[in-house]
Amino acid sequence: MSATNIVLLGAPGAGKGTQAARLMETLAIPHISTGDMLRAAVAAGTPVGLKAKAVMDAGQLVSDEIVIGIAGERLAESDAQKGFILDGFPRTLAQAKALNELLESMGSGLDCCLALTVDTEAVVERLLKRAEIEGRADDNEETIRERMRVYEAQTAPLLDYYGGQSLLREVSGMGGVDEVFKALLGTLESS
Ligand code: ADP
Repeated sequence: MSATNIVLLGAPGAGKGTQAARLMETLAIPHISTGDMLRAAVAAGTPVGLKAKAVMDAGQLVSDEIVIGIAGERLAESDAQKGFILDGFPRTLAQAKALNELLESMGSGLDCCLALTVDTEAVVERLLKRAEIEGRADDNEETIRERMRVYEAQTAPLLDYYGGQSLLREVSGMGGVDEVFKALLGTLESS
């Protein structure tokens, strides 16, 4: 399998985090989630966390400058040189372009953009269930709908962006966790 620099794309609640964790285990490459990194920054009360908290709680996007900074630092670490699964980054065209430039400057590039496709209403249901279990501050119905709107407006255009680079591989995220994982692995093997 050659495709190891991977971007995982999908609407909120599409199952990116769950699938990325499994891919990390199977492919032995780090799972890099900007959402997790931002939540850790909020919990630790760092300057980035202080800036990001209100924006995240409202379901909006943290500034490109901040996320490009944290993703860039993480991608420069040694464990990311053998490959990575990016989850939740890039989320805007500006972030996608910055990622391309960053990887190019490191003499590297993306191998594949795996996109999990889902039905919006079904994922709103999923997220509401997760809200009950995990109690995440941004998992209430109003914020979930705002995150969906933000995804459609800012992140969905990346499907065309990666499609245009022949890197896009779409996989249905509507099955069970095992089924979706198998489909993702199958797609990676054949790409
Ligand atoms: P989900 O996949 O459920 O939308 P994430 O954990 O990926 O959630 O992200 C949670 C929140 O963190 C986002 O709603 C956003 O406010 C912020 N965030 C994460 N990644 C980015 C990014 N690449 N650009 C801007 N904001 C981000």
